[in-house]
Amino acid sequence: MDSGRIDRQHYRRILAEIADGIIFVDDRMIIHGANRAAARLLGTSNALGQTHLDHWLADGQGPIRGNPLPGRVCTVHGSQERVFVKTVDALDLPGLQCLIVAPLHTSRPDAIAAFAIRDPVTRLLNRAAFEETAGAAIGKAAAEQATLLFLSVRLDRFSLINETNGHDIGDDLLRATATRLREACPAETVAARLSGGHFCLLLRTAETGTDQAISQAIHQAMERPLSIGHLQRLATVSVGTAHWPADGQDLPSLMAAVESASNLAVAGGGGKTCAFNPAILQDVKDQLELEADLRMALPRGQLSLHYQPKIQWPSTRMVGMEALLRWHHPERGMVPPDRFIPLAEQNGMIIPIGRWVMDETCRQLAAWLDAGFVPPPIAVNVSPVQLMEQPLSEILAPLEQHGIPKRLVEIEITETAVMDLLQRSPGRLTDLREAGLRVAIDDFGTGHSSLSSLRKLPISLFKIDRSFVEDVGPSREARDIVSTIIAMAQALGLEVVAEGVETTEQAEFLFDHGASIMQGYLFSQPLTAAAIAAAWLPRRRAGRVKAPPAPCAVPSSAGPCRTAC
Ligand code: C2E
Ligand code: MG
Ligand code: MG
Repeated sequence: MDSGRIDRQHYRRILAEIADGIIFVDDRMIIHGANRAAARLLGTSNALGQTHLDHWLADGQGPIRGNPLPGRVCTVHGSQERVFVKTVDALDLPGLQCLIVAPLHTSRPDAIAAFAIRDPVTRLLNRAAFEETAGAAIGKAAAEQATLLFLSVRLDRFSLINETNGHDIGDDLLRATATRLREACPAETVAARLSGGHFCLLLRTAETGTDQAISQAIHQAMERPLSIGHLQRLATVSVGTAHWPADGQDLPSLMAAVESASNLAVAGGGGKTCAFNPAILQDVKDQLELEADLRMALPRGQLSLHYQPKIQWPSTRMVGMEALLRWHHPERGMVPPDRFIPLAEQNGMIIPIGRWVMDETCRQLAAWLDAGFVPPPIAVNVSPVQLMEQPLSEILAPLEQHGIPKRLVEIEITETAVMDLLQRSPGRLTDLREAGLRVAIDDFGTGHSSLSSLRKLPISLFKIDRSFVEDVGPSREARDIVSTIIAMAQALGLEVVAEGVETTEQAEFLFDHGASIMQGYLFSQPLTAAAIAAAWLPRRRAGRVKAPPAPCAVPSSAGPCRTAC
């Protein structure tokens, strides 16, 4: 810009025109000059003269002091309007500083952006600005008898993603999510990032059902993969909704309500919405306590593994086992995995827990081998969160540490997780193929895999979901599904295992249709290691104990090579 052509007169004229207040103050906060807008904002038609800034403004925490003055929200004494006040940086005016005063609830959204009240990563409002805006919106809605909708949106597993992939990826994810939230919400929505992967949205609403419509739009907007760095990544959010004034009279109680609702949505495993109602408060308290207890479960030694045999029908000879996690809580008793695994997946605890499961399985296998037993392969359930966030070499490290050959460990991944992984990071599935372990698709029939995608996957077997096996007696549809799954597995050259077999009729139906490997209460409940050894594990025959070990897949750098391989 050719600054030589712009003189003091021009600057004066510009200052007189602009809508934001400009005030020059000395170190004692005595006003030395101001534009017209400043006088207007401070509620006077006169010049501000040599008055003290405190005469006009208060920030609720005592006198307004500081050079530079950190950005803050102040109230105008006369009108009670809220304004944002901030020093213009790096002006270098000896003995003076220049303050900008802007109305906070301006109709110009860019006026707010001009101040440091936006989150630098997403450019949404930050927490302080959101609280200000929400407080004012409540005041206005009260006067107009309007209703407000608050949504608390949490990026599922954000801290885990941020910690394991680095902050640049975390920031990209936040930005991409902010864009999707904007897309999903009406233009007038106030949107903020409160902290980490935690967003808050606010809008006026007259119609019932707006909360469901908007939260559904948010989940839908998140269904498309996000561009993160050079990768495409899927992410889900948990949404809580609450209404003013029905769910809280003032801002703190309303925020508490909407956070309770979103906490419960998080605890439900993510990707869901929970609307506030007073009855959920107890559930939220329970979930928070459960989560706190779960953090202590591992260090306090409350986790253990049970093993359930997989058998060959009709001989009922054991051909494999599945390791199933158990949490013995001193007061709650046995907490089922379905209750705590979704929670552990949300808060990242699944990583240390999953590591413990693999380590314990390998330790137990080594102990059995050392004691002269001949254990069959053990299937370990691996969470999609582990596969997404940890390199496979790390997940499988306990095999080497305990000297366990790969043929003794299988991994089970649920069908929905496999399809998710195929979409999010197919590289992880290639790693699995290269690792050389057998992979089972668990709960098969509950996801939506296509035949073409199945052909590409590095899998060795399907486990037909219990719900179909359960219904083969009464339901023709279940019988058709089961026989189709078996036929499909045969066409793909894969093995099938039927889960949850409880009756001889079910076993016979499965066998007649070509599935001879089964797991279920008909044969055995999941048992402790000691009970499995006593009832199911064959011992090595004396003659074979001294047989030289066969070559195995365990590298020589690993621990002792187990002779059973
Ligand atoms: P899953 O992997 O499909 O495990 C089979 C579930 O069916 C087990 O429930 C087992 O006890 C139960 N089951 C077996 N036979 C029968 C039967 O005949 N009838 C009935 N009604 N149920 C039967 P469990 O142990 O409660 O585990 C539930 C789920 O928790 C597992 O389903 C698995 O998805 C997950 N899980 C268990 N352990 C782990 C683990 O170490 N890591 C991970 N990520 N998930 C685990
Ligand atoms: Mg399983
Ligand atoms: Mg299963």
